[in-house]
Amino acid sequence: TTARETTADAFERRLSTTPRSAQERDALIAQPAFGTVFTDHMARVSWSADGGWGDRRVEPYGPLLLDPAAAVLHYGQEIFEGLKAYKHADGSVWTFRPWANAARFAQSARRLALPELPAEDFLGSIEALVAVDLDWVPGADETSLYLRPFMFASEAFLGVRPARGVDYLLIASPVGPYFAGGVKPVSIWVSQDYNRSGPGGTGAAKCGGNYAASLLPQQEAYARGCEQVCFLDAATGTQLEELGGMNVFVVHADGHVETPALTGSILEGVTRSSIITLLREEGRDVVEGTVRLDDLRAGLSAGSVAEVFACGTAAVVTPIGRLAGTEFDLTVADGATGPVTAAVRSRLTDIQYGRADDPHGWMYHL
Ligand code: PMP
Repeated sequence: TTARETTADAFERRLSTTPRSAQERDALIAQPAFGTVFTDHMARVSWSADGGWGDRRVEPYGPLLLDPAAAVLHYGQEIFEGLKAYKHADGSVWTFRPWANAARFAQSARRLALPELPAEDFLGSIEALVAVDLDWVPGADETSLYLRPFMFASEAFLGVRPARGVDYLLIASPVGPYFAGGVKPVSIWVSQDYNRSGPGGTGAAKCGGNYAASLLPQQEAYARGCEQVCFLDAATGTQLEELGGMNVFVVHADGHVETPALTGSILEGVTRSSIITLLREEGRDVVEGTVRLDDLRAGLSAGSVAEVFACGTAAVVTPIGRLAGTEFDLTVADGATGPVTAAVRSRLTDIQYGRADDPHGWMYHL
């Protein structure tokens, strides 16, 4: 490995005295349900308005001691990230474009008036934690170690102002293939009653509040027999923005692809930007613009829209087979996974799992 600008070596290691046995660990890794099993350690960096970032450490995973007056519990001053570590066939462990997550984390911090964690600490915490819990990275097909960096206002104070005491933590969870029975198309409920963000709001930040706001519309989607929600823009209610946790793409029968532009109210997905690059590389016209619901409905009815898919770190690429709303219920083409969707999914996962070259330098060796 080459010397890198990270603070990994500055993380003090306070190792667990009660780590799971190799046998216990391997049993947990073999059957991971998303986000329920965590490794033996976590990384932490603390911040105070007076002292800045300090006290970097890897410590045993466990409950936090939090004052009941901690600002995060009252005003939701919190942000997070999500990325994965992948094991390659030779046993090496890699993560995907982590500097993009570091940059988005800093952007989210600015919007939530939290201190920006330097990228070298973001990367350093990942290197330090994965080094200690390396054996927790699963190796079976389509499995990975999900990494969850997060930061919250830990100062005990009920005044409404940016906290003067903040904690950054990183936890890790082995995850299995997102779709147990292989990739299958999902149905989408287009939410016409609720928005997740609006102009000038926090939609482009990865803050907990956005996800709290998406739960009720998600329940509505379930009640309507759909698996996921798609939100429309708050200003006009006519344009597709994104799903609760994924960006969205439309593939036209003439080959061109559309995805909602980064207007400030949607999250700038790392998967989204990678897919735009991969599709353009194969010569496709990819338009980041306005995706009007009316046009999409007309295109689905007329057959000029061939595929719709969603994308994000957790599920990579998810085909959308059905789109429903208060006055429509449409099947996307024949409802099956389309060829462009399947090909871009393979292309991306081949890079992530080291089955293909990495011409863009997206992979980061841990
Ligand atoms: N939109 C939202 C609202 C999300 O939570 C996510 C997941 N982070 C995405 C899009 C996809 O982003 P990424 O590809 O970086 O995972």
